[in-house]
Amino acid sequence: MQCHYCDADAVVAPEHDGIKVGLCRDHFQQSIESFSTEPHLKEFEHRFET
Ligand SMILES: [Zn+2]
Repeated sequence: MQCHYCDADAVVAPEHDGIKVGLCRDHFQQSIESFSTEPHLKEFEHRFET
């Protein structure tokens, strides 16, 4: 499988919203970072709202 974001070979194919997306090592690392920071950002937004 090819990476969804570039032409590199995908090392993983995690399911995201029911869709399997091939990711190379670099983009897999980036997706982990964005997945792990997004919920925190939303939590912060909620805290500011209340
Ligand atoms: Zn890639």
